[in-house]
Amino acid sequence: MIIGAGPAGRFAAMDAAEKSNNVTLIEKRHIGGKCLNQACMVVCALSDVAKHVVESDNFNELGLVESEVKVNYANIAGKIKETQKKIRHVITAETKGTGVEYVRGEACVDADRKVVIVDDEDEYPYDKLLVCTGSSPLIPDIPGVENAYTYKDTLKFKQIPEKLVIIGGGSTAAEYANIFSSFGSQVDILCRSSFLKMLGDSEAEEYIVANLLKNTIVHENVEIKEITDRSVITNYGEIEGTVLLAAGVTPNSDIVKDIVDVDDDGHIIVDSHMQTSNPDIYAAGDVIGGLLSTPVSRMEGMVAINNIMGNDVEADYSLIPLTITLNYDVSYMKGDNVNNNGKELTLPGAAGPSSFWNMLTGKTGITKENIDLQSGKINNVLAITPSSNIALPYMIKIMKDNNDDDFSNFLEIHPTTDGIFKLAQYYKRYM
Ligand SMILES: Cc1cc2nc3c(=O)[nH]c(=O)nc-3n(C[C@H](O)[C@H](O)[C@H](O)COP(=O)(O)OP(=O)(O)OC[C@H]3O[C@@H](n4cnc5c(N)ncnc54)[C@H](O)[C@@H]3O)c2cc1C
Repeated sequence: MIIGAGPAGRFAAMDAAEKSNNVTLIEKRHIGGKCLNQACMVVCALSDVAKHVVESDNFNELGLVESEVKVNYANIAGKIKETQKKIRHVITAETKGTGVEYVRGEACVDADRKVVIVDDEDEYPYDKLLVCTGSSPLIPDIPGVENAYTYKDTLKFKQIPEKLVIIGGGSTAAEYANIFSSFGSQVDILCRSSFLKMLGDSEAEEYIVANLLKNTIVHENVEIKEITDRSVITNYGEIEGTVLLAAGVTPNSDIVKDIVDVDDDGHIIVDSHMQTSNPDIYAAGDVIGGLLSTPVSRMEGMVAINNIMGNDVEADYSLIPLTITLNYDVSYMKGDNVNNNGKELTLPGAAGPSSFWNMLTGKTGITKENIDLQSGKINNVLAITPSSNIALPYMIKIMKDNNDDDFSNFLEIHPTTDGIFKLAQYYKRYM
């Protein structure tokens, strides 16, 4: 039995079914989870339009074209929903095609009897249970917080807000600031501490604020006193606008919180095999916390299901690629093997796809690498360039294989990410 058909649960279900196990996957809302229906795909779709608007502005400023782009938000939202529906159709067929029994309904668990109860009616007995219930927006205890939208609501906006106030300083705050400021909103970002602190890189943060987020003011060390239906009241005064809460997420662990051990924030505690304190219950994805991304959730789901199937496997958290989707992607890595103990170098991004026409203003992005001078090995990479989200996983592959000759027999299309390996070689020569 698997609860939750997001990236973690769905991939685990398909893998187990393909290996002739009897698998039931239960989902209370939509197949694809938050990733397809509320988060990654919505940001991705809106960002694509934002990039088009910004590129068009740039082309107009350079005198290359004369055009006026008008954004129709209601149509964008409508088309996103239509596309999501289509994708849901495709992946439902894919999932069922592997032999998974797919059940729509809200699950709860009776661990004593080893059954999952769906919609308080149907009972499904299990040998092993995998909980992949994901996460939901974190709603802090602030007076008037019910006036704020969250990432779940952005497709409900009737029009582009003239002013948008975003509470939060992480990826979601930056991504929505980029989207709506590109569409013409004046954006204020209110951070409790510092903006994009997970990057751990003030140079990158400054580049983003100065070059990527237009019409956006970032306020740091702000205390929120109250949220009204048209403003946020802070320790510095009132800031007007539609309010979007991007204060992080909280795990959906309520259905098992009295059955398995959870931490103080409600994340299900698992061992390296994704097994919980109850030997028949495993958990994977956002609900266990850590680095929250779709590929990490899928990896954890696969680790859990493989251990359930009797294979002894562990998740590899050594080098994890992550991206903030802005007009240039901000790609960075986290993980046990990332460090900044070597020599750090910063280079301007090269002129390539999507950045050629920014060469004249010098806004081609930046790439930073941290290299161990003794061994020549890469310790860390952060890249703010149009193709960085494609390039970074390649870099991680090189780092994991511990062999930078791997790419010597690998031909790419030029110009795409083909400059990346050359860049690594350049660093070597430079040092
Ligand atoms: C705004 C935003 C943008 C993001 N963008 C990206 C991105 O670009 N790239 C990326 O890699 N990651 C991104 N993420 C993170 C990514 O969405 C999550 O890490 C990923 O979706 C987690 O997958 P999951 O399967 O663990 O959980 P979820 O996707 O949350 O799915 C859990 C599923 O379980 C279901 N469920 C919950 N409780 C029950 C129950 N009792 N009974 C039945 N079903 C239940 C839910 O309805 C849901 O469908 C983003 C997150 C946010 C918030």
